[in-house]
Parts: sequence; C-alpha cells; structure tokens
Amino acid sequence: MAKYVYDFTEGNKDLKDLLGGKGANLAEMTNLGLPVPPGFTITSEACRHYLAEGAVPDGLEREVAEHLTAMEKRMGKTLGQADDPLLVSVRSGAKFSMPGMMETVLNIGLNDESVHGLAKQAGGNDRFAWDSYRRLIQMFGKTVLDIDGELFEHALESLKGDRQDTDLGAAELQGLVETFKGIVRDETGKDFPADPREQMRLAVMAVFDSWNAPRAILYRRQERIPADLGTAVNIVAMVFGNVGNDSGTGVAFTRDPGSGQQGIYGDYLQNAQGEDVVAGIRNTIPLQELERLDKSSYDELLRIMETLENHYRDLCDIEFTIERGKLWMLQTRVGKRTAAAAFCIATQLVDQGLITLDEAVTRVTGDQLAQLMFPRFDSGTEKKKIAKGMNASPGAAVGKVVFSSARAVELAGQGEDVILVRRETNPDDLSGMIAARGILTSRGGKTSHAAVVARGMGKTCVCGAEELEVSIGERRFTAPGDIVVNEGDLISIDGTTGEVFLGEVPVVDSAVVEYFEGREPDDDLVRAVDRIMRRADEVRRLGVRANADTPDDAARARRFGGEGIGLCRTEHMFLGERRQLVEDLVLASGEEERQAALDALEPLQKADFVGIFQAMEGQPVTVRLIDPPLHEFLPDLTDLSVKVATGDGNDKDRKLLGAVKRLHEQNPMLGLRGVRLGLVIPGLFAMQVRAIAQAAKEVPGAKPEIMIPLVSAVQELEAVREEAAGILADLGVEALIGTMIETPRAALTAGQVAEAAQFFSFGTNDLTQMTWGFSRDDVEAAFFSRYLELGMFGVSPFETLDRDGVGRLVTIAVEEGRAARPDLKLGICGEHGGDPDSVHFCHQAGLDYVSCSPFRIPVARLEAGRAAFAECDSDTR
Ligand code: PEP
Ligand code: MG
Repeated sequence: MAKYVYDFTEGNKDLKDLLGGKGANLAEMTNLGLPVPPGFTITSEACRHYLAEGAVPDGLEREVAEHLTAMEKRMGKTLGQADDPLLVSVRSGAKFSMPGMMETVLNIGLNDESVHGLAKQAGGNDRFAWDSYRRLIQMFGKTVLDIDGELFEHALESLKGDRQDTDLGAAELQGLVETFKGIVRDETGKDFPADPREQMRLAVMAVFDSWNAPRAILYRRQERIPADLGTAVNIVAMVFGNVGNDSGTGVAFTRDPGSGQQGIYGDYLQNAQGEDVVAGIRNTIPLQELERLDKSSYDELLRIMETLENHYRDLCDIEFTIERGKLWMLQTRVGKRTAAAAFCIATQLVDQGLITLDEAVTRVTGDQLAQLMFPRFDSGTEKKKIAKGMNASPGAAVGKVVFSSARAVELAGQGEDVILVRRETNPDDLSGMIAARGILTSRGGKTSHAAVVARGMGKTCVCGAEELEVSIGERRFTAPGDIVVNEGDLISIDGTTGEVFLGEVPVVDSAVVEYFEGREPDDDLVRAVDRIMRRADEVRRLGVRANADTPDDAARARRFGGEGIGLCRTEHMFLGERRQLVEDLVLASGEEERQAALDALEPLQKADFVGIFQAMEGQPVTVRLIDPPLHEFLPDLTDLSVKVATGDGNDKDRKLLGAVKRLHEQNPMLGLRGVRLGLVIPGLFAMQVRAIAQAAKEVPGAKPEIMIPLVSAVQELEAVREEAAGILADLGVEALIGTMIETPRAALTAGQVAEAAQFFSFGTNDLTQMTWGFSRDDVEAAFFSRYLELGMFGVSPFETLDRDGVGRLVTIAVEEGRAARPDLKLGICGEHGGDPDSVHFCHQAGLDYVSCSPFRIPVARLEAGRAAFAECDSDTR
C-alpha cells in the first residue's frame, strides 16, 4: 500500500525526492532534537498523482486525518477548536528550491469561534488574533480561491492610511476581517469556509496546483528543473512571531554567503510573521542585535547553527521564529552562495576537518570557476542599459566604439580601448577582434563567427543584439529610445549577461586568471582555487587539450594547464596577405599554375606550424586540414559584381567574379568543404601535410596529429589518408592520421571509418547542426529564444551537448570505433568540450580527452575532476 504521508519523525534529509527539500530537512532537524514544531509531509508522489489524475490518490485523506489526529494528541488541542485551537500552516516544498514560486497558507484553523480561543491562548491578545484571522482570509482568498490579491491589499491600505500595520487595533482588524469576508463572498459567490479541515484540504490542493502556476513553470525552465517532479506539502503546527515584542522572526546563514567568511549573518524582525520579512513592510535589524533583545534565544540559535553546519558539513541557511521567548526552527537547507564563497567555504570545511579535499572538488562547479575568471563590472555603480543581446563570451569590456577592424587596430595601436561593433563578423575581422577589448554584433547566435572566435580568445562578446541598428557606412548605431552612438563614443558590454551600457562602467579584474597566468596564490580565494584544481587534476581521467591556432593561444593553453592542442584550425592561415595566393590557386588555369600557388603557400604554412609546435614543447598538436568552402577566402559576390559592372574592376576581378560565381553555393555548410576540398582540389591537402611534416622535422619533439574534417564515408578518408601517409613516409615523419566525426553518417558508420583512422575527434558543432538540421549560424538568433520559452529544450544544443540525440551518435561511434580499433584515440573539439555538463557526458562516454578554447581549460579540468567522482552527479544545481 502506497504511503503518502510522513511524520517529521519518519523522514530524513536524504528523502528530498519524496518529501521535497523543506520536508526532508524539517525531518532531519526534528531527528537531531532541534526545536521544530510538530508536523508531517504529504509526498510529491501524491502531488504527481493529483496533477495527472485531477484527484488526490485513494487513501491520502485517511492518512492525512491519522497524522493530524496524532499531531493533535501530541499538542493537546484540536485543529480549529473553539476555545484553544491548534492552527497549522500548509507549505509547499519541492525537491529543488524554487523561492517564492509556489504557495503557502498560514493560520489554517481560524474562524469566527476559534479566533477568540486564539486570543485567549495569547494571553487575551485580541489584536494578534484578529490580525492572524485577516491574514488567513487574505492568503487563502488569493492562493486557494484565486481572488485578485490587490483587492485585499487595497482594503488593508485604505484602513492603514499613513500608519504601520502594527498600529492597527483589534477592533479595526475585526472590521477588516468582515471586509475580507465580503470580498470572498463577492468574488466567489460563497462564504469563506469556516470548517478547519475543509480549509486544510483546499489549501493542500492549492499548493499542489501551484506547481503549474505560470511563474513556477518559467522558473523551472530557467533553472532547468524537471517539470514532472511535483511538490511535497508540509503541514506544520503554527508558531507565532507576531504575538508581541518578545516574539519575532528571522533568517540566518551559518557563514557569509557572499564571501564565505565565518561569522553571524542574518536579519531579524520583531513582532512579525515570516511573510512580513519577505514583503519588506518593516525594516529588519541585523541578527547580532537579537543578543540584546533576547539573549537566551540568541545563544540557542548560535548553538543550533553550529550543530547544523557540523551536521550538514556545509553552509546552511535558516528560517526561525521566536514565540514569546521560545525559539522554533522553521526551515534549513544547504544555502546558495556566490562563486567566490563556494571555493572558500569548500576549503575552509576541509581545514575544519568536516569534509575531505575530494568532497571539496565536488562542492564547486565549472560555472562558478568561469564566473571567477572574467573581469566584472563593479556592481555598485549606476548603469544606463541600452540593449540586450546574447551572452556569447563572458566578461566585462569598456571602450570606444569602432565599426571596422582597421580602425580597431589603429586606435588600439594608440593605446585606446575599443569595442568592435559589427552587424556580424567574418574571418577578416580577426585583427580587429584581437585589437578590441570586446565585440558587439547585432546579428548571429552563440556559435556565430564572432561568438566562437571571441570565446576562443577569452574576449568579451555580446552578439545578436537585435535592437541595435548598425550602420557601418555612417559609423554609428542606434538603440531604442532614439539613442545614437557614434564612432568614438564610450560603451560598456557585459558578455556574462548580454547587456550593453552607454558610457563607461568601472571594471574589476580577475585574480583567478592572474593565478592561472602564473602568479603565486596570495589571497584566500586564489589559494582555495589552487588546492581544488590540483586535486581535480590528480583524479581526472579525461585529458584536457586546447583549440588553438596561434603560438600565443598555444602558449596560453599550456599556462592554463592544457595538455596539447586538440584542434588547430588552419583556415585563419589563409587570410590577410595570403588571400592573394588562394585567389591564384582558384584562378589557376592548369596544373603548373596551381602547383605554383601551392608552392608559395607551403613555406608560409610551415612557419605557422613551427611556431605552434615550438609553443607546445613536445605536447601533441592535432592539425586540422583546411575546412571552410574556398569562396570564404574570395571577395564578396555582390561587391565584386558591382566593381566589375561599374567598370572599376580589372582583368583579374573579372576572372575572380567568374570563379566566385562558379563556387557560389546555396548551402555552403553542406557543400564543397572539408575532406571534399581535399579530394576535389589536387595538391591542397598534400601541401598542408608536407608543411606539417617539414615543420615537425625542424622542431625537436614535435608531435603532430593530422585530422581530416567533415568525413562521412570511410572511402573519403582512405583516399586522403593514403596520400598523407605517403608524404609522411617520404619525409620520415611520424604522425597519427585521424578524422573528425561531424556528420551523422560518420558516426553511424564509425566501425568502418575507424579502419582508416587512428583517432576520432567529435566536431559537435557540425554534428549538432546536422543532427538537428539547425543552421549553426542562424537559428540561435532567429528562434531559439522562442524555443526556450516553449520548453522545446532547456538549453541550446549548441551550448550543452544534447545527450539524447547527438550524444547517442557519439556513444555509437565510440562503441563501434573502439570495437574496430581498440587503441582508437577519442576526443571532442566542438564548443561542447568546455561546457560543464558536456564534459561529464564525455567522461561517461569514455572519451580520452576534451578540447576547448584556452580560457575554458580550467573549467574543463575542474569538471573532468568532478566527473571522476560518481557522487557529484547527484546534485550540481
Ligand atoms: C565542429 O564542427 O565541432 C568543429 C570543431 O569544427 P568547426 O567548428 O571548425 O566547424
Ligand atoms: Mg566542423
């Protein structure tokens, strides 16, 4: 027989699935012998049944009645009894905290008779009794009967006038009760229910229903809380903080949730109930002042806080009430904290002997570490927000607006901080992006060029700020409200939130980045990060490599703890002055001309690789052969057409126009790119392989790995592999040859592909694009916000690997690839390689390493360490 109700003496803190966080922790405190008012919890299972079937499960009402009777016996009074009533609160409490999102009804059990009994209990305090009664009707009316809360508020306000709520007398409150009852009658056509058990029954169902209130649904989506958990309901004997000045209510933390420092942190409100604190109707006082007001309760509270921290072995937050000098605990839980506090508290607890260093690793998250790595805007300053885009690459940047890369480079050369503003960026903007403090675009999503490159560089970027009208020609942009920002004006962009501000907002640098750059730990936070990172590195099984294309990036990757390069994209090496050579290659009319163009490129490529191999000092470097469609390196079709049509073009322009038209594709991402280029343009891949091999010969200890992009069939790979292997053999250079897995077909035929590959690296950007059929350059800005609102997914699959779809393809490829070639090396180099949840997936899928942008390396190292502790998966929220 199902059990739907648990007394507080029956539960414990590990039953959050069933009893919700509040119920489980009330039970835990009860069993610790702490002063918790008697009560019981109706399980979330009962809620799920109610929501699915539209009725409470059989047996629930009987169980509730039994538990209520037991509680009445213990208290020596019955619910709503006229002369000496027991009153209860009905409180929501889901597995994950959803602050203020669901309902609570206090003072259940009051009616026209028991209100007098309550006054008697309170030593003849009529005022208190009528105040409690009006609160019940108000909360019940709003929550259970769905009456507009404003109606009650309005009646209360007009009675109060300029006075405080505590200034209202008993007779006035009694009148207010009559007014409130009138509102209930007018709005529902029925009287306020006087029967205490009926009040309780209706309140329980209202709490169940509040699981699906619009604000709760929205909150769950944002916090990625599953929609089908349901909430538990706690029925707790009422204790009153509003019986007089020897009573009150408060919240407390066992240490500072902002910094992690030990001490007494909290607020207290005399002569008040919990909701008064939340509503902020009177000013609270610092908890320390309670010592003066009620020393014995204060001392007891401190003892309880110590007990709780030692018991939970973590920072706890607490809600308590004092009723006429008697302290009651109404709630506790492991408290939320800032990123900095999370690291500090975890290591403090290690020093106190409460947790091990391994547990400390599981107590912090990669997201928290990432937050500590970005410069931030000073939170104390006033800001003028002019737009909001996507938070593409975190951090805070301030600078003068520029609209072209050339201007960015020029001003940066003069020592100015600049923000590069573009509609969208393209590979030619690289120099400007490097020169700029931050990048702002009005189009494109989180995997747009601007976003990917900015993240790679650890540069602040806001993209897809669609409210902005960017006019490159006029060198200005406009924002809603007729705001015009001209070149040279100062703006501030927050890549962590996506916000754009007018003018300069002060920025604070990250000490944690300075530590990763090599500075000795010299404050508590950095020392905590250092200890946790060292332990994560010791226990992680996943290797962590970098996506890096330049010697500078490669060097930073090593400083940040990278163990090689997992993706060196070679396309950036064909830009700038080298475009000329790509044009020659495309325009070559015969074998000889083509070879000449390739011969000219080869030494340049070799020099690129020498620089990278040197920077990596013997660590493996996976070089990916050229991937994008060649037209990306050629002039724009429209620009060129105009130039030729207006007679401004020369003979080469005319020829180029022909080539650009020939190479034009409707779907370039699905066109002539990746391995297809290598097969269609003779000599292109061979030139790159030769350059890699020559560079490797020149740098002692270099460990090149050659990676072929966009393979879908083993035949493609075999053809280019054979040529590459021949070149390597001729030059006497050893290098692994492997492939990216970026198309569903490659994943599904991984057993065959592995016959020709010594390693796989999952290119999950393209794999996500092709699995979902989502254009990675368009969809995020176009409709993902709507998709997220609709709950189609909780997070963009370009950000966190979609385990069910893309993840399944990865798993198939891992299994079949390893079956065909047991020593197959497996990695990932899509953007997901630096995403915390995706790193856990990669660990579980059995990959050998993840590869991500240099700035994400510490996050990936930490998450790889956390993934190695099985238990840390249980609650990372
Ligand atoms: C990928 O597709 O995941 C990948 C790493 O390659 P790119 O982003 O360069 O297409
Ligand atoms: Mg790709």
